[in-house]
Amino acid sequence: MASGDETRVAIVGGGVAGIACAQSLVANGFGKRVDIYDQGSRGPGGRTSSSRPVEVNGETMAFDHGAQFFTANDPKFKAVCEELKAKGYVARWDGVFGTLNAFDGVFIPKRRVETMGPPRQDFFKLLTADEVLVGVPTNQAICEGLRALAGDDVTAHWHTTVTGLDLDASGKTWSLSGVNKRRLDEGRAGSKEKRLSGRNAAVVVCDVMAAREGTPGTCAVRGLPERGDAANTWRAFAKVPERVGLFSCMLAFDASAPKPEFDAAVVTGSHTIGLLVRDSSKPGRVKRKDGLERWVAITTTKYAEETIASAPLTVDGEYNPQTAEYFAKIEPAIVAEARRVLGVACGDDDGEYPAPVHAKCQRWGAAYHSGAIGENYHGVPGTGGVCFFDMDAGFGMAGDFIQGPGVEAAWLSGEAAGRATVRKLKAKL
Ligand SMILES: Cc1cc2nc3c(=O)[nH]c(=O)nc-3n(C[C@H](O)[C@H](O)[C@H](O)COP(=O)(O)OP(=O)(O)OC[C@H]3O[C@@H](n4cnc5c(N)ncnc54)[C@H](O)[C@@H]3O)c2cc1C
Repeated sequence: MASGDETRVAIVGGGVAGIACAQSLVANGFGKRVDIYDQGSRGPGGRTSSSRPVEVNGETMAFDHGAQFFTANDPKFKAVCEELKAKGYVARWDGVFGTLNAFDGVFIPKRRVETMGPPRQDFFKLLTADEVLVGVPTNQAICEGLRALAGDDVTAHWHTTVTGLDLDASGKTWSLSGVNKRRLDEGRAGSKEKRLSGRNAAVVVCDVMAAREGTPGTCAVRGLPERGDAANTWRAFAKVPERVGLFSCMLAFDASAPKPEFDAAVVTGSHTIGLLVRDSSKPGRVKRKDGLERWVAITTTKYAEETIASAPLTVDGEYNPQTAEYFAKIEPAIVAEARRVLGVACGDDDGEYPAPVHAKCQRWGAAYHSGAIGENYHGVPGTGGVCFFDMDAGFGMAGDFIQGPGVEAAWLSGEAAGRATVRKLKAKL
């Protein structure tokens, strides 16, 4: 092993969990030899990333097309968010939040939402929190901020898909192979695979999709003792039921369009739309000269489930990309229902809301786990986090799929994995 490699750590995934893991290593004095790999081409973010900018009326705009808002309850995560706020990456959103009935347009502000039973999607209930947070100028800044807090010692490799993790015969070090600059909708490209780094004392995988066949991030793990805890866990993760799917629909309306009284509403009574968020009302968003209002409609899981069945995430074990033809089929129905619900919200019984000047949908075939696998794993002492970590193999997994859905849960899990890795590294020295 080359000098220094005894503390080298590779993190697969540059979403909230992966970066939290790196932060935790840095905070404990092991930040010098940390590499983060993420297949996304636009830097950190994962499911908190924003859409690619689009040009309308000569101005560009981007939407939060994944996570919409988040909260910080855990004291440690709260402290991190305070730092992110102070540095301008995150801001408190004091919008008008509540529940909208899609039949009669009745909007109930958030204080009373709490009495209305459990929300249909776990993170929608975050709107009832005392403090609702968003990234600035888009939610991509949540991970950009966390990345900045982790510091420059951590090396990030964006647009790099890790396709293989190999534990060497001694069982002590890991090597990585992968593909640079593969498009997310491009099939697996074994021929382009190359060795990615030197030897690592530990690897932490921060996306369960890496364990599954037929996803853009499918990754092979080789060399783990066949009957060991890590091999069994990896196999179990590969079989975890599909995450719940969702579609987000990004919409821009002319400034003259009627304005509903809310900024974000959990929608009841619509088969298609589960959440409506006025993206342009979030703090720190770019003010456009043309005054276009940007909305994001998130579908219900039921609708997504039915629709994704017609174009599943994987077909015959291969990733099934989202194509323009596919969206041409499904987009009109989502847009029509979003317009109907916005119309009803503005007091128009016929729901005749103006047509958008821009509309684009995004499929999240695996948006979140409705539960968490974490019940089967132990938390890491001294953290509020749950992750998987095999001390012998130096192999960990973290993310919202273990801790529970949402940004905060992902951070807690990643932070816990970082701490577990620190224990492993200290034991090696
Ligand atoms: C539509 C939608 C709305 C949501 N709304 C909210 C909300 O309002 N509030 C909230 O708190 N949460 C919300 N969530 C959930 C939230 O986004 C996630 O819980 C959180 O971002 C998960 O973070 P993570 O780091 O665990 O995973 P991810 O963000 O998915 O990060 C994993 C990363 O690993 C990368 N990766 C995977 N395999 C490989 C590989 N082999 N090589 C390299 N890179 C790889 C992936 O590309 C990804 O970037 C929403 C999610 C969706 C999809």
